[in-house]
Amino acid sequence: EGMTIVELAKATGYSISSLQDMLVNIGEKVDSEFDPLSIDIAELLTMELGVNFRRLISDEGAVFQHRPAVVTVMGHVDHGKTSLLDALRQTSIAAKEAGGITQHLGAFVINMPSGASITVLDTPGHAAFSAMRARGAAVTDIVVLVVAADDGVMPQTLEAMSHAREANVPIVVAINKCDVPAADPERVRVQLGAEGLLLEDLGGDVQVVEVSAKTRAGLDKLEEAILLQAEMMDLKARSDGPCQAYVVEARLDRGRGPLVTAIVKSGTLICGQYIVVGSEWGRIRFIRNMLGRATASGRPAMPVEIEGLKGLPMAGDDVIVVDSEERARMLSNGRKKKLEKDRLLKARRRIEIEDTSESAPSTSRIDLPIIVKADVQGTVQAVTDALKSLNSAQVYVDVLHVGVGPISQSDVDLAQACNAWIVGFNVRTPSNAITLSANQANIKIFIHRIIYRLLEDVGNFIVERAPGTD
Ligand code: GDP
Repeated sequence: EGMTIVELAKATGYSISSLQDMLVNIGEKVDSEFDPLSIDIAELLTMELGVNFRRLISDEGAVFQHRPAVVTVMGHVDHGKTSLLDALRQTSIAAKEAGGITQHLGAFVINMPSGASITVLDTPGHAAFSAMRARGAAVTDIVVLVVAADDGVMPQTLEAMSHAREANVPIVVAINKCDVPAADPERVRVQLGAEGLLLEDLGGDVQVVEVSAKTRAGLDKLEEAILLQAEMMDLKARSDGPCQAYVVEARLDRGRGPLVTAIVKSGTLICGQYIVVGSEWGRIRFIRNMLGRATASGRPAMPVEIEGLKGLPMAGDDVIVVDSEERARMLSNGRKKKLEKDRLLKARRRIEIEDTSESAPSTSRIDLPIIVKADVQGTVQAVTDALKSLNSAQVYVDVLHVGVGPISQSDVDLAQACNAWIVGFNVRTPSNAITLSANQANIKIFIHRIIYRLLEDVGNFIVERAPGTD
């Protein structure tokens, strides 16, 4: 099943001999160019070459099986994404079997009476969606677009629509808050239609369901609509072959170490395997399902919790299975080095931009170094990506450093050294001492709990600092 050097050369356009040289460089010996390379070695090579290894894996002869859909909830702020997720989670197996106790694990599974199931990503918002996409993790099959019946289509509704369109992911519309007296679902339909969404009531194929996250009315219809959409898509995944999975959430448990919630995209993840996740590695000690029960393996579209990594990866990172501890270390080191190299390149580019801005201030972009701190890894990524959306011809938002946890003195020191701003998301207000030293160093700190508001605040500040931008 592994690729040979010959195939790899064909797929990448590199010569066989140059690939063999690279193999020697990483200490690997291949007797014949027709011997299949192991997945991790092929991955290392393609990483060196800067090509996407996953695209090179052939599906020829693979066994495909039906799999559940993976759903993301998007929509405008305050339209009820979180409430809807809470309501759906209550219908999930986790809530039923665990007596209503639910924990945020990044994903949950709804089991339908028919035996079908739906996997729901438990992080609302377009930022999380684009964070995953930005890292190449095409996890979402269906977007549930939440629109409040009393508020109608708003800027982030449109944003969500374009995200879904760009990613080529179909939408199921949930018109929420249908319980409020001011609800006007018809108006929402007209608005959505005007924005180019082909609703099924008007002969299109986008389903619309009226719901209330509060009274739970229509939830069953929404679940059925999602299932119907999934059926139309005929979702399948290979259950054999190399496992491919993506991280949806990563957190540190004091007793158990790094814990990762991942969704298997294809193949099967098995307890005891050596894995590389982003640039971290480990051996799978436990795989748990969403009920917290240990299981032996994880199958496509199944969210699983993985224990056994040595470090904390990021949301959107991929999970790769490798042959041995040695390989795992090697690949993880290779990726860490590459990250470091990219970071250096970026820093150098920044200096170049600064240099040119002195000679030609009116034409070059203004560079805005920012440090991001947030409560969990998933939000860090979401905030980072949201900030980058502020980039324009005039402004370059450069995220220098990210981290989980409260804003610390060392963040302030770093900010001072790099002339950066600090963005804190869902973290507590820094202590007086830290605030004071930030003030003295003239470092702006933004603290927010809503991405939308954060962007507004930072955006206004950019306009102040950089007149002539918009
Ligand atoms: P999000 O920002 O999209 O995640 O929205 P939230 O889930 O936080 O909801 C925003 C506000 O709307 C909260 O005060 C909710 O209680 C309220 N809300 C959400 N769904 C409903 C609903 O179906 N009916 C009513 N009446 N209120 C709702």
